[in-house]
Amino acid sequence: MNKTGKAAVMTEAKRELEIREYPLSQVGEGCILVKITCCTICGSDLHSWLGKRQAPTPIILGHEIVGEIVELGEGVTHDSGDQTLKMGDRITWTIMDNCGKCYYCREKGLMMKCRSLKKYGHDSCASPPHFVGGFAEYCYITPGTCIFKIPPNLTNEEAAPANCALATVVAGWEAAGLRSFENVLIQGVGALGIYAAALAKHNGCYKIIVTDILDHRLEFVKEFGATNTINTKNMRDEEIIQAVVDLTDGFGVDVVMEVAGVPSLIPLGLKCLRKGGRFVAHGTAFPGANFTYDASDIVFRWLTLLGVHNYDTRHLQRGIQFLSQMRDFFPFHKLITHRFSLNEINQAMRVAQSGEGIRVAVLP
Ligand SMILES: [Zn+2]
Repeated sequence: MNKTGKAAVMTEAKRELEIREYPLSQVGEGCILVKITCCTICGSDLHSWLGKRQAPTPIILGHEIVGEIVELGEGVTHDSGDQTLKMGDRITWTIMDNCGKCYYCREKGLMMKCRSLKKYGHDSCASPPHFVGGFAEYCYITPGTCIFKIPPNLTNEEAAPANCALATVVAGWEAAGLRSFENVLIQGVGALGIYAAALAKHNGCYKIIVTDILDHRLEFVKEFGATNTINTKNMRDEEIIQAVVDLTDGFGVDVVMEVAGVPSLIPLGLKCLRKGGRFVAHGTAFPGANFTYDASDIVFRWLTLLGVHNYDTRHLQRGIQFLSQMRDFFPFHKLITHRFSLNEINQAMRVAQSGEGIRVAVLP
């Protein structure tokens, strides 16, 4: 095995990432060393890179990772789906390593808010094992991480966005208690919006209304179950609300999912709900995402506003099962619109930032 590996390192926000070489650490008990085969660029990688939110430096960004096992630490025999693990297996894993015993892990079912949380692509790479992010040749997986083998019918590119974009949306729909025959509004067509539409279709939703400001994205999401799309670019809020109300027999939708990261979409989406409707905010995962709203509307109309950040292990497992089961029904492979090598990481980040594609893949 190589004694070193390459990684793209961010030393400071808003600066070019640098390719660095780090030594590979001894694989400890309960750990796994993975050779990364694909890492897709998530919106939150861009937020960190652009300095929209704090990230410790130096850091290896990238958390939507898949790879092949090159070394299994002592005691690692099975994945979290109880399947045996061996060298060469293709795996994905939870974005977080959590302790399983703190108040939030143990008592409140919020493992993603663990007291000793570590997150791939979010922590400093200054000290060994260094390889704790996705824009690299290797990733060192620690014992508090849940692993899943990738089903044979999924490609690496299809599986990569599952451990952030897809699992987060699975968690969001679960939090909202999505039911069949409900009408939903999805605000934004990035990877999350596309998965949200596909899951809504899979769940038997009736009207799956999707908004965005780019026509080609709205066209694309029709392949993933959207029944109605609205380009809101030149529309006033009142017109958008009216369009949604008209599509739902005058009631408004049962659930809104915000996956655009635009704070002003929250008041707009709340107005699109029927009485008793539920709103899930996903995208506004950066500080300063303020909005104002007349709280009497929440009271009078029995509205629920939920925030969902990351997910639980079961959401990743269900996401993987969903991809495997539905891959002939939805063209998941089309989500990856651009591919770059690790050496081309800065170009990859710029393309991801431009919004011209859906998911940009880094293939070390
Ligand atoms: Zn992410």
